[in-house]
Amino acid sequence: MKVPVILEKFKDLGVKTTQEIHDKTMGLLGNVHGKTNKLGGRMKVVFAKPLDVTKHYVMSHQEEVKTDEETQFLHQAFVDSDEFLFSNLSNEERDRLVAAMQLRDVKKGTIVIRQGDLGDYLYVLKEGKLTFLVDGKEVGSADNPGSIFGELALLYDCPRAATVRADTDCVLYRVSQHTFRHIQAAHALENVDVAREMLKNNKMFEGLSDDVIKTVSDSLLRKPFKKGETVVNKGEEVQGLYIIKEGHVKGTNVSIGSTKYADILFGPGEVFGEGQLISGKPAPADVIATTDCVIWVLTKERFFRILGHLDLKQLIQHVQDMKFLSVIPMFAYSDVDKVEIDQLASRMTGATFPQGTAISTAGQATKPRIFVIKEGSVELSNKTGATKTLGAGEIFGFGGETLILTNKLKKQQQEEGKINAGQADEIGAKALTTEAAIHMAEKHLKNDSVVAHHSCKVTEDLTVRLLTLKDISAVLYDPLRLGKDYRTTAKMNPNLTKEKLERIRLLGAGTFGQVWLTKDTITEGAYALKIQYKRELIDYNQAEGVIREKRVMERMHHPFVMSIVNAQQDSTCLYMVMELIQGGELRSQMRDHKKPFLEEGPTKFYASCMLEGLSYMHRRHFVYRDLKGENVLIDKDGYCVIVDLGFAKFVPDKTFTFCGTPIFIAPEIILNKGHDKSADIWSLGVLIYEMLYGTNPFFDYDDPNIDQKTLFKRIISGKFEFPKQSQAVVSDKAMDLIKKMLVVDVNKRLGCLSRADLDLRDHPWFRKVDFGKLYRKEVHAPWVPTINSPFDGENFAKWEEEDKHNLKPLTAKEQHHFEKFC
Ligand code: ATP
Ligand code: MG
Repeated sequence: MKVPVILEKFKDLGVKTTQEIHDKTMGLLGNVHGKTNKLGGRMKVVFAKPLDVTKHYVMSHQEEVKTDEETQFLHQAFVDSDEFLFSNLSNEERDRLVAAMQLRDVKKGTIVIRQGDLGDYLYVLKEGKLTFLVDGKEVGSADNPGSIFGELALLYDCPRAATVRADTDCVLYRVSQHTFRHIQAAHALENVDVAREMLKNNKMFEGLSDDVIKTVSDSLLRKPFKKGETVVNKGEEVQGLYIIKEGHVKGTNVSIGSTKYADILFGPGEVFGEGQLISGKPAPADVIATTDCVIWVLTKERFFRILGHLDLKQLIQHVQDMKFLSVIPMFAYSDVDKVEIDQLASRMTGATFPQGTAISTAGQATKPRIFVIKEGSVELSNKTGATKTLGAGEIFGFGGETLILTNKLKKQQQEEGKINAGQADEIGAKALTTEAAIHMAEKHLKNDSVVAHHSCKVTEDLTVRLLTLKDISAVLYDPLRLGKDYRTTAKMNPNLTKEKLERIRLLGAGTFGQVWLTKDTITEGAYALKIQYKRELIDYNQAEGVIREKRVMERMHHPFVMSIVNAQQDSTCLYMVMELIQGGELRSQMRDHKKPFLEEGPTKFYASCMLEGLSYMHRRHFVYRDLKGENVLIDKDGYCVIVDLGFAKFVPDKTFTFCGTPIFIAPEIILNKGHDKSADIWSLGVLIYEMLYGTNPFFDYDDPNIDQKTLFKRIISGKFEFPKQSQAVVSDKAMDLIKKMLVVDVNKRLGCLSRADLDLRDHPWFRKVDFGKLYRKEVHAPWVPTINSPFDGENFAKWEEEDKHNLKPLTAKEQHHFEKFC
């Protein structure tokens, strides 16, 4: 049995195996399960049932617990009320108001409100009948449950206009003016903060002084929109700058001149309308709320008053570039995400060409690049003499046109009903995977030159934004990703069934799974087969997790992240067929080394691969959540592949499930504050530390009684040291990087800020790494495994198969949990 490196250090301390560390560190945290381990010396994962997190209003000590029915009743009363005070409440505020309402029983004959008194409560009638009297005369009555009265009292201390008397025993809810105001104030305060934060994080406002940002945030008008409602009508003048606070909207029906563009989605923190404010042109798209949403509007008048003295064009250039790029079909229908669009936009440059300039001549060499016309016009003509004039807002380009055209064509044909989605994908895939297309793209890149298909002449002085194919490739690494939609599933091969796969040896076993090296008896190909027992998954509440694992793997297409080739199930097990990775685990690399640590060169290589793989997932909003040496394998070329996507999850926002491997878990997971990609950055920091020093930064090797709780406490404190007497020679840059990654506050952790992984890539320790070359595997790996045959599994530890025949069979209801697996 192999023992991981961290243990060799503390043999003297009486701890002999990883198992002992884990036995010591397991099972002391509430409802977190730690499964006992028969596997020997492996890091075990911990996990909890997913938490349902609902925001609670915590301000009022007067708050009374309510049943769902009562809450629903009060909500409805406020929703039904056409009183302006309530129709403007956000869902959040309404929740808080409902939570703060107090129940009051009132006897028949009681005067609830007396005319002329200063009002301080609002009431909602639950049961009974009330009569309203002015100057002693009855003026009306109320017996409808949900009737609201006394609402003016919520605004100010106004004398009551009428007396309200209970004509029967009544049940009422009430809330004081003080509480109501407090709720709104707290909310508004929060909003100003939120608005300020959001503005600061938006590229458009980047670099503006705090004063200007404060003025903008104080001037925002809040507008709620219902799902499906139109925010802006195409062709109309825009009313201001729109900033999304909550929810999503879609810009659809986008066209400029004769060019049609793809739809564009906007989410929290994003802005629209700025281009039209400046150009005075009408909206180029219909903007529709795709969810209920809240939008802040900075009216046109305020926009110019506050920002008018600035160079507005400069200010919005980047935002405009981003929007343009994201609606160009070449990017819109490809596996390119917003962070990358942002990077592409940063590489755009401006240029002007006077009338009469010939930008290209059909059949002659020109530079491969895309032009977005800001002002002026061009005439394009092809060899047959056909011409077309393009103006402001339209695009043309060289080099990328095969891709653009293929995509446009496919989209158009699909829209016109000539082909269906499947055929469209086929056309796209074919056109882009042909040798010719690959060859062409490579040639363009190498020579930085391309033969123009059309002549392009400037017919009116031209101002453009430019993006070269070189820049596209620098950002995307692989321009051939264009045209490939990441939503399409991996190439599954249904022929690779477990019946056809002969099991040769066990490669590894984790908490739930066994992974076998197998041989396809028909094609003689080698594959890895992961088998998981349904009974165990049910017992540990992980059925849903494994379905997710399979789905996530289907969507992974990256050399450093494991994907799936086939999935199957029978009454006892789930089976996943994967590509076989033969170099063994990174953990063994760390251990097999003569010293208990890796040199900085190899560490940097492996860390770069992992950063690349994790960024790939993160950009697609997947978090991984279980980074550790045994979940990273070394492939035949010596590169890393992240396997075991058991905890990976699509998380566009934050998630709350407790899971991971204790010594790698990020503090925000332990604190249950909600976590996201930041958790993986933390684990990567821990792993880099382990690779460089051979020890874990948070495990207290001097404390013989360390348990999981103590370990977690240390992680939360974020305090760690670099071993003083280590033989490892570690550079200042590496230490600096680790210090910046292992920061408890996610808002300060490097790699978790607005530039995400780019900040890490720019850190001096990573700066010389050519990630493009790494992705294309053009870098020499520090260690290339010896592999003697396609079925050689010698780089993996030896395992004995566990007998699981005695597991209790599943009931029909339990089987039901796996229905969606395949
Ligand atoms: P965990 O305890 O981490 O949850 P698990 O039960 O989910 O583990 P995996 O981590 O997916 O299982 O696999 C267990 C081990 O099997 C890995 O650590 C690795 O050594 C080996 N393994 C997994 N996938 C492959 C593969 N595609 N090729 C070769 N070996 C693999
Ligand atoms: Mg694993």
